[in-house]
Amino acid sequence: MLKMLDGWVCAFLLVLYCSVEVIDASAGDADPRYRVCITQCQETGCVAQRCFPNCKFSSDGEFIDRPWYMQQEPLYLQWKKWDCQSDCRYYCMLDREKERESHNLGPVKYHGKWPFRRIYGMQEPASVAFSALNLAMHFHGWVSFFILIYYKLPLKDGKKAYYEYAGLWHMYGLLSLNSWFWSAVFHSRDVDITEKLDYSSAVVLLGYSLILAILRTFSIRDEATRVMVAAPLIAFVTTHVMYINFYLLDYGWNMIVCVVMAMAQLSMWAVWAGVSNHPSRWKLWLVVISGGLAMLLEIYDFPPYEELFDAHALWHVTTIPLTYIWWSFIRDDAEFRTSNLLKKAK
Ligand SMILES: [Zn+2]
Repeated sequence: MLKMLDGWVCAFLLVLYCSVEVIDASAGDADPRYRVCITQCQETGCVAQRCFPNCKFSSDGEFIDRPWYMQQEPLYLQWKKWDCQSDCRYYCMLDREKERESHNLGPVKYHGKWPFRRIYGMQEPASVAFSALNLAMHFHGWVSFFILIYYKLPLKDGKKAYYEYAGLWHMYGLLSLNSWFWSAVFHSRDVDITEKLDYSSAVVLLGYSLILAILRTFSIRDEATRVMVAAPLIAFVTTHVMYINFYLLDYGWNMIVCVVMAMAQLSMWAVWAGVSNHPSRWKLWLVVISGGLAMLLEIYDFPPYEELFDAHALWHVTTIPLTYIWWSFIRDDAEFRTSNLLKKAK
């Protein structure tokens, strides 16, 4: 009886251990040889023949001589530690991957990420480049929307746009630029602060675009109703951002929040495209269907081709043309609403 119980306890602990390992580490950094390499690197500042100047922070401990305000200067040391840690992780990973390759083993993940080749110190150069292209695409879309509204379409009393959602889309443009900027930064250097900035801006953008989807698809033009719709969502997004920044960055929970907000707005646009007689509804269909398909890339996570292009980078590629179509829909909507309002006014 006791033996059986022991067996159960062992099995239970094993399952617990495995699930903790899955959450905590990837196959690559769970490897004891990789761990030994990291420990050695942080002590000696070297991996094989290669040494990193940033790992020599133990020698400058002469902080005591400085005045008190200089002692409180952890920022550059923090950067040095980050640099040391990422150099150690990178070169230990390259060593392990070379070894694995010589044994005909495929690549494994390290700290939740595939082994990428660094270019100009960027951790995931492909994702950085594609984030920058997304940023450029949003900038182009936003500028052309601005020009259309204020220079091409007629203005109310010569200064205000007829299109009731102009202000909302301007804000959307700003939040998109912000989000893609931090995405590019995060993919160049993955540390605690860049990760939180990227995740937070993405959540803010998703939450805001959900509000925008509700306001546009239900044609809510009254200011008081807009505030009533937005308030609970703003409260939720604010709480969630505070939670992931100051309490716990729970990837699973964050993923659920993002997927639910994304699915909600995609389905709202899809239903609206189906029931409204908007002249550009085919653009909505295109964005919703290809956006949904592209999300599969985030689920079918494959290792990087040529140590550069992985599923996540490809997902960032697909949003580039979608962004173009999306802003072109927004411009069409502005034209459509303006001409409707002018027709009514006559
Ligand atoms: Zn990304």
